[in-house]
Amino acid sequence: MSSYMGHRLTGTNLTPPFNKLNKKSFDTYFSSIKAAFWGLETKGFRSIHSPIESAMSSTAGLVIPCKAAVAWEAGKPLVIEQVEVAPPQALEVRIKIKYTSLCHTDLYFWEAKGQTPLFPRIFGHEAAGIVESVGEGVSDLKVGDHVLPVFTGECGECRHCQSEESNMCDLLRINTDRGVMISDGKSRFSIDGVPINHFLGTSTFSEYTVVHRGCLAKLNPLAPLDKVCVLSCGISTGLGATLNVAKPKKGSSVAVFGLGAVGLAAAEGARIAGASRIIGVDLNPSRFEEAKKFGVTEFVNPKEHDRPVQQVIAEMTNGGVDRSVECTGHIDAMIAAFECVHDGWGVAVLVGVPNKEAVFMTKPINLLNERTLKGTFFGNYKPRTDLPSVVEMYMNKKLELDKFITHRLPFSDINKAFELMLKGQGLRCIINMEE
Ligand code: NAD
Ligand code: ZN
Ligand code: ZN
Repeated sequence: MSSYMGHRLTGTNLTPPFNKLNKKSFDTYFSSIKAAFWGLETKGFRSIHSPIESAMSSTAGLVIPCKAAVAWEAGKPLVIEQVEVAPPQALEVRIKIKYTSLCHTDLYFWEAKGQTPLFPRIFGHEAAGIVESVGEGVSDLKVGDHVLPVFTGECGECRHCQSEESNMCDLLRINTDRGVMISDGKSRFSIDGVPINHFLGTSTFSEYTVVHRGCLAKLNPLAPLDKVCVLSCGISTGLGATLNVAKPKKGSSVAVFGLGAVGLAAAEGARIAGASRIIGVDLNPSRFEEAKKFGVTEFVNPKEHDRPVQQVIAEMTNGGVDRSVECTGHIDAMIAAFECVHDGWGVAVLVGVPNKEAVFMTKPINLLNERTLKGTFFGNYKPRTDLPSVVEMYMNKKLELDKFITHRLPFSDINKAFELMLKGQGLRCIINMEE
């Protein structure tokens, strides 16, 4: 039996209008009303209570049955199951996921090679959705708000949240091993009363999910959710790693290791910062053609050289690059990314998620020679405070997102997105939760 608070909403006792509006019709209805009312809201009619709120709130406090892609075992295809999603508890929000995409971090933890295995689990952390209901104490988000869930949060009160320099919130910082909500140590997902683990506090491979309020960034309602969903992890991470952490100067040289979506977003950051040389490093030569659209000016495939890639880059740049950003998760690339920066001023930033047992080895003299090694989660952005402005960069056409979106798939084909990433094909694959 489920121990969740709230009533169960099962297939047989669905209450109208949820019953009527379930799945596709629910959203079509919702979107048309929403479109009509955003217009009014932006013209100063915010106080109007739209039918959206009553439609959405009909499920508040109830357990929602819906589809989710469950990973039962490491490396085995996900299975679309009917799960029950409990109502949000204090400071939590239940959201309807509209679009999600796959980031390599999902893949690592699904493969569970060199990571802590935790199954059954609902993966997914790069997504966009709409608030369905809020738990007690949530005052700054309401039903119908558009949101991006983020794998690392911002409580707003701890020393990290108070610091201008850190986004490593004491309460809500990334925790890849936790499969439950922090408030009560329980999962909000279950199948026939058996709990299913969360992933990164987001679990977006589900039509509905419950997220701590501090892990949700409120969005400009005009932002297209099928595009800005990629800002909820990969693109903001890469962009911020360059702009906020590596901080290249105009005219400088930047090496980017790994030309997946995160690395190409790092390259985009280098282009925006005015770097004059952007050197892309990847083992997969098919990445190079794509990378040209992101301002990458030169390419190095470590496999094509008989000496270490850091040496190749040092030779190309008269002693080393000014900045490097590592976006592969492989320890050799991390070490090379550090050792290829110029002495005296070079800064290397690690972004890739390594194997749990990986150890970073370099000679201390490389640091003494005035190189700096840094690392970052989510590009140092505070999700609630900073993410809306990254969305505005897209809305103001300062940041292109379309070029990162190479595939689209219906939710029923989610395993194909895993296959694409395993084969190194494409950048981001947007999964439409309604198909
Ligand atoms: P991706 O699979 O799309 O891209 C990774 C690229 O790295 C691939 O093109 C691959 O060929 C290349 N690569 C692998 N090993 C390499 C090596 N030794 N040398 C050079 N290139 C190599 O993955 P992604 O979604 O872009 O994610 C990239 C990394 O960033 C992953 O490790 C992911 O877990 C991590 N990540 C970190 C954060 C963070 O906040 N720190 C956030 C998101 C993703
Ligand atoms: Zn990610
Ligand atoms: Zn905090």
